Amino acid sequence: MSKGITSKNEDYSQWYNDIVIKADLAEHSSVKGCMVIKPYGYSIWEKMQAILDQKFKDTGHSNAYFPLFIPKSYFSKEASHVEGFATECAVVTHYRLKNDGNGNIIVDETAKLEEELIVRPTSETIIWNTYRGWIQSYRDLPLLINQWANVVRWEMRTRLFLRTTEFLWQEGHTAHSTSDEAIEETRKMLDVYADFAENWMGLPVVKGVKTPNERFAGALDTYCIEALMQDGKALQAGTSHFLGQNFAKAFDVKFTNKEGKIEHVWASSWGVSTRLIGALIMAHSDDAGLVLPPKLAPIQVVIVPIYKGDEELSKISTFVDELMPKLKRLGISVKYDDRDTQRPGFKFAEYELKGVPIRLAIGGRDMENGTVELARRDTREKQTVIQEGLEIHIAQLLEEIQQNIYNKAFDYRTEHTTDANSYDEFKELLDGKAGFIAAHWDGTPETEQKIKEETKATIRCIPLDNKLEEGVCIYSGKPSTQRVLFARAY
Ligand code: AMP
Repeated sequence: MSKGITSKNEDYSQWYNDIVIKADLAEHSSVKGCMVIKPYGYSIWEKMQAILDQKFKDTGHSNAYFPLFIPKSYFSKEASHVEGFATECAVVTHYRLKNDGNGNIIVDETAKLEEELIVRPTSETIIWNTYRGWIQSYRDLPLLINQWANVVRWEMRTRLFLRTTEFLWQEGHTAHSTSDEAIEETRKMLDVYADFAENWMGLPVVKGVKTPNERFAGALDTYCIEALMQDGKALQAGTSHFLGQNFAKAFDVKFTNKEGKIEHVWASSWGVSTRLIGALIMAHSDDAGLVLPPKLAPIQVVIVPIYKGDEELSKISTFVDELMPKLKRLGISVKYDDRDTQRPGFKFAEYELKGVPIRLAIGGRDMENGTVELARRDTREKQTVIQEGLEIHIAQLLEEIQQNIYNKAFDYRTEHTTDANSYDEFKELLDGKAGFIAAHWDGTPETEQKIKEETKATIRCIPLDNKLEEGVCIYSGKPSTQRVLFARAY
């Protein structure tokens, strides 16, 4: 236990909150359900954004920006879309306040909007209304656009980063001339997300497709990446939707194909949000605080001098002044914390809490011996390392830490993925915080709903790499051809 962090095994949910607050990532705001992302938390988001943005550009997408407000009538044009989002919309009805004469500020009823505006919960409608003017011919396709934005979904049960009323995200919205091409795009962006999760976040994910019950409102198919958190609950870490021609039909977006025939356009949309920061915390951290994968750590190496008197400090600082540019040249971000207002022990705890992957401590004796003390955050092991060639050692170690964090999460997931062959077995596993449970399901929404009501477990996805296997549904006993992944989820 450190700095009053609740132990993970004692109270997982409190442990999570303690880390978010004490590592200075975010705090609750005065507006219910909304959070303030603090500078340290925001710098992690900026790293995520930079990497994802590059990946989107490398796959041919451009950024654009669309309005925050969506006229209510646009929203209603796609029936299942409006139905899916209706219960969580913020609606703007007026555009002016006034003084009531008694010093109270009230809404000016004379300033009522003719048509209410919805604060975007997602932007398919406003974007497809815009695309009508952009797309006429097959030459205008594909149209590959991404937007970085905030969205609002009036969530009832909120949790910092994982589920907030307002959140930051990116939303890709693409238009294609064929169904196959739109599906290929949907799958390609799912792969981009999975690559980001696994190789940058150190987070193993299952790629899969959602059941009709869990599909995005207005999609023909929702693909997702699902990750397992350290309490055995699943988290949907990203989604990519094949929208068919639903939005093109609702907004009358047509194009002339190569044969001169007029057709509706095919669509995809895909998004990841600040929830990914919640995933990072929940997948890797421990009772001493945050554990960050080096590739997303705002500070990768922190150096703490341990000295008696100015002379010793000056020797250490001279060494550090030479080391820092060498590290920076290798693309490693490094901070030298020579504050004299805090003791080394305090600094050690602070950087552990903040998940800095490598800590170097350098004292007078180290300077005499040509060594440093190196502590890695993931294993909390300390070692004495020689100063010569230190930057190379650090660069290699950062890679090793990145891999180790992934392996740990991967092993955890493997240990917590189990087959269940009967409903009793299924329920027993859930009581034991089983994680993912692979079980046969008869394919009906009714069975899925019953299992959800009785156990709170949902079908996270039908994995894309599933093997077909004859079996019987654990609930109804009806025949099934494959196992699906169940879990309790965030
Ligand atoms: P969706 O548009 O519903 O497919 O969601 C897109 C992405 O945003 C998914 O990766 C979700 O996990 C994430 N997401 C959905 N709702 C929230 C929320 N309230 N807070 C944070 N992230 C969310």
